[in-house]
Amino acid sequence: MSFEFPEPLWEANFFGNKPCLVCGNDKAVSVLRTVETEIAPICKNCSCDWNFYGYEALKKVKPKQLIFNLIKFKLAHPFCSNMFTIYKDLKKMQVWAAKMMKKCELPAPQGGGLPTQPPAHL
Ligand SMILES: [Zn+2]
Repeated sequence: MSFEFPEPLWEANFFGNKPCLVCGNDKAVSVLRTVETEIAPICKNCSCDWNFYGYEALKKVKPKQLIFNLIKFKLAHPFCSNMFTIYKDLKKMQVWAAKMMKKCELPAPQGGGLPTQPPAHL
């Protein structure tokens, strides 16, 4: 059993008409996805970051700034997917991120988990 990231992401081609969900500034050209589902459409810039920094690139996301950028993007690109879809995508990314955080906060399992009794010398 592996305690690595439960849902590793990889980059796939993306042909939809969505904004980047990492910076919110640009049109997505690829998408970060798990086996089951697409998590975050990303633009060319963020794709470079992703290739360079991996998951660190996603930690730079600032939700408030991102939403603001997405609204700006939507106003400038009225034909991209509607705010409802964008919001749904954001939610999906949030759920995934929360799951990842939880996994990362867990102490590394050592020898079958925490002892149920405190050590005798304490
Ligand atoms: Zn981007």
